[in-house]
Amino acid sequence: MLLSVIVPCFNEEENVAAFYKELMKNRPFFEKEGLQTEILYINDGSADNTAAEVKRLHERDRFVHLVSFSRNFGKEAAIYAGLQKAKGDFVAIMDADLQDPPSLLPEMFSYLKQGYDSVATRRATRKGEPVIRSFFARLFYRIMNRISKTEIVDGARDYRLMTRQVVDSILKLCEYNRFTKGIYGWVGYETKWISYENVERANGKTKFNFWRLFLYSLDGIMAFSTVPLAISSVMGVLFCLAAFLAILALIIKNLLYHDPVAGWPSMVCIILLVSGVQLFSVGILGQYLAKTYLEVKRRPIYLIKEEL
Ligand code: UDP
Ligand code: MG
Repeated sequence: MLLSVIVPCFNEEENVAAFYKELMKNRPFFEKEGLQTEILYINDGSADNTAAEVKRLHERDRFVHLVSFSRNFGKEAAIYAGLQKAKGDFVAIMDADLQDPPSLLPEMFSYLKQGYDSVATRRATRKGEPVIRSFFARLFYRIMNRISKTEIVDGARDYRLMTRQVVDSILKLCEYNRFTKGIYGWVGYETKWISYENVERANGKTKFNFWRLFLYSLDGIMAFSTVPLAISSVMGVLFCLAAFLAILALIIKNLLYHDPVAGWPSMVCIILLVSGVQLFSVGILGQYLAKTYLEVKRRPIYLIKEEL
């Protein structure tokens, strides 16, 4: 039996070897279970020595593989490439920075043996994270679960162990705008959730700043919900209703009191409000159109420069 470990790497030169060492502490367990282990480092256009570090490991251990992209395509693309290249009967996805402890693998594997198809992890708390980020992260998961039929678990990490069957199902979704957390929910299967305390990154800095996370969350919403499109229709109906009531009120007021209509400031406010709402709605529409445009182009999700 083969276990494939997929490790997306973007400028992780200090972590490549450290990760390997930490993962191989599980060697007695792998041997006991009769598991061969292949490691796929997906080098997502790193500008540092990540590729060279992986090559050094490859010299020593032929079960270490390298897939280097031609540029940075993003973690989602790296995960997809890893899933396509993995040959294992079981496949794990782990971050290079040791925030996904390899020591959890034996426990996770035991759940697969119990019959679960996939074992997912989530962090128990958001301790050590900036307060504002936690706030927006919670808000995102709340909105997302309200407006999407696909369940997305708050605090879920990308750290997962899956069977071949689940991997093959995920690979059937070949969309360009990938949001893996939603895809897991969409494909279904029996998933066991385990939680663990947040671990600090081993070396280097996070690659996801607030702005990048924000854009990523919008991608997620648009990939798994069309509710924002309905918002513009609902607002349209509400505004028509309000206009109708206002017209009625004006007519009655004029008939009863012969009161001429006064004031352009109120008029300007109304025009601003309504045109704002219109632009907002067109914007939402435009976002979906843009995503559709990218899907229709059928561009590859990643390009490989080198493979070992
Ligand atoms: N990563 C990647 N491509 C990117 C950004 C990140 O492959 O464009 C990898 C990164 O090397 C790491 C994992 O994704 O192994 C998680 O990234 P990071 O630790 O920066 O995110 P955080 O843990 O802070 O959410
Ligand atoms: Mg990290």
